[in-house]
Amino acid sequence: MEKIQYKRVLIKISGESFVGTDNQQIGVNFDVLDDIAKKIKKVVDSGIEVAIVVGGGNFWRGKEAQEKGMDRSTADYAGMLATIINALALQNILEKNGLIVRTQSSILMPSVAEPYIQRRAIRHLEKGRVVIFAAGMGNPYVTTDTAAALRAIDISADALLMAKNNVDGVYCSDPKKNPEAKKYDKLSHFEALNKKLGIMDLTALTFCMENQVPIIVFNLQEDGNLEKIMRGEDVGTLIK
Ligand code: UDP
Repeated sequence: MEKIQYKRVLIKISGESFVGTDNQQIGVNFDVLDDIAKKIKKVVDSGIEVAIVVGGGNFWRGKEAQEKGMDRSTADYAGMLATIINALALQNILEKNGLIVRTQSSILMPSVAEPYIQRRAIRHLEKGRVVIFAAGMGNPYVTTDTAAALRAIDISADALLMAKNNVDGVYCSDPKKNPEAKKYDKLSHFEALNKKLGIMDLTALTFCMENQVPIIVFNLQEDGNLEKIMRGEDVGTLIK
């Protein structure tokens, strides 16, 4: 893996990263959140601009609600609201750790967050503030992976960091089901798309390919991983 110096990164954190390692299935575990915040602080303190897209799967997934009979569009809007809950929780814990944070939402909610404005987001980043993007793209039928790809492109992030829970990269098959599964150190976007490895939404992957955004899939729970990535060390899987 070649060495890369990052000036600005976008970290995608799934809702499931917020629930912790116990049997908790939904909601937010504040110890886990504090641990994530401390990891992000180290990156910000090293002078790297950090934007974050949060998922909402720890509360709600539109597709699952649709399978239980709900209208998909409405179910997806509920999912977007779930991401706002996560964004507010993360914002608060990042602030408690001494960071300056702005949350921008794709669904207008002026009492709790700024609207998404690209130039304003970039200005915040330049000032060393962490920017959390909530409510995905504000459109149903897509996920926060797509929002992460498009926001990364829009703010000219040098890389999209896909933070995973207990998975340390991209495997040829699910390592939780197949202990023989082989991990990739490096893949092209095209290979990742063709192999349909389930790393992230194909739409998101396509946007990153078309706009040459490198993606790093890594385990956020492992201490030091984020800092290693910033130093250009081999962590997880690089899709480039
Ligand atoms: N969602 C949506 N449009 C978006 C982003 C999210 O409709 O631009 C909805 C969708 O229903 C999704 C839910 O919000 O299932 C939660 O987001 P996601 O599943 O991406 O969260 P994650 O799995 O990353 O926690």
